[in-house]
Amino acid sequence: MIDRIYMDWNATAPLLEEARDAMLAALSMPGNPSSVHGEGRAARTLVEKARRQVAGLVGADPAHVIFTATATEAANFVLSPRYRMGRSLLTIGRVYVSAIEHPAVRQGGRFAPDCIVEIPVTRAGVVDLDALGALLADHPAELGMPLVAVMLANNETGIIQPVEAVAKLVRQKGGLLLVDAVQAAGRIAIDMAALDVDFLILSAHKLGGPKGAGAVIARGEALMPEPLVKGGGQEKGHRGGTENLAAIAGFGAAAEYATNDLINRNLEIAALRDALEKGMRSMADDLVIHGAGERRIGNTSFFTLPRLKAETGQIAFDLEGVALSAGAACSSGKVGQSHVLTAMGLDAGVGGLRLSIGTATTLAEIERVVAVFGKIAGRRQASAAAGGRAA
Ligand code: PLP
Repeated sequence: MIDRIYMDWNATAPLLEEARDAMLAALSMPGNPSSVHGEGRAARTLVEKARRQVAGLVGADPAHVIFTATATEAANFVLSPRYRMGRSLLTIGRVYVSAIEHPAVRQGGRFAPDCIVEIPVTRAGVVDLDALGALLADHPAELGMPLVAVMLANNETGIIQPVEAVAKLVRQKGGLLLVDAVQAAGRIAIDMAALDVDFLILSAHKLGGPKGAGAVIARGEALMPEPLVKGGGQEKGHRGGTENLAAIAGFGAAAEYATNDLINRNLEIAALRDALEKGMRSMADDLVIHGAGERRIGNTSFFTLPRLKAETGQIAFDLEGVALSAGAACSSGKVGQSHVLTAMGLDAGVGGLRLSIGTATTLAEIERVVAVFGKIAGRRQASAAAGGRAA
């Protein structure tokens, strides 16, 4: 049997030892964090430690971290047409969402479909600031403040979006900004205050924490969406339900790991990704690497090999022992059309393949993947030369 190589870290990262240890310790704790007795207080201490660890990753105040079950839930919480400021209720009539958002955000949460406006991206895969400026200039005042959602790093291309410039536009209009930092966290330094965003969302499993833990980090506590999950008042009433202690502890440990030595670790990962792309380019002249000229997170390579359908490529890599994605992982396991390539006006009908790596990736793995790539690209050429149809 061939050794498997896992290069799908953007779909989910392997669980870190630090996270596993923290989770195992939490699983042995009997208390409910809301209970006032000693066991409850011990569980509460663990939740608050994780809150500090998660806040530390993005330079936020721990008091502004709200734990959720997933980043998808976090997005649905923030994407609300109803907000509360103290006792007053504010209504938001329209949400502006970039065309390359993850479906968790792109579907607009609790907004009706006709209240969701798409922000286009350029061919380079970057949010079109002029278009956003024009959309916001036309925003009708009677709809209340605009809510804008732009991600920090795209999950398919890895391209880092101009969030600070987006924030300036949103600020001019007195709006609110939601930033999906799920793929950026742990890969680039994030300072929530410097980015000037109102809400940031994170997911534990992209950082080496467990699947099924997410967070919203709010700018402050004055203006908050109506809860999505109502219940026993947990998370200061913003998200009801007994906290998933083990998942939260694992999330905290992964966030702390991600915070430490972030720059050096990511430089090493980027060097491996660059070696991978150099190797692949040397094997196929017609390889198109999406976003290669843009600022990207260092672990991601999203490419199209003309005449190779993404799903065929994915199976071919898998048979050679390499796990990668054809665009974003779809819950059904089916390979969907990449809405990111479509938004970039680049869909050549064959889609794209995404290799994404992480801290455990080695140079030996990179070299083997380049060889596998060469084999697949060569086979494609051979079949085309023999008059075969595009695979
Ligand atoms: N946002 C981005 C950019 C993602 O890549 C993902 C996961 O694929 C999500 C949101 C959703 O995260 P979760 O799996 O925690 O719901």
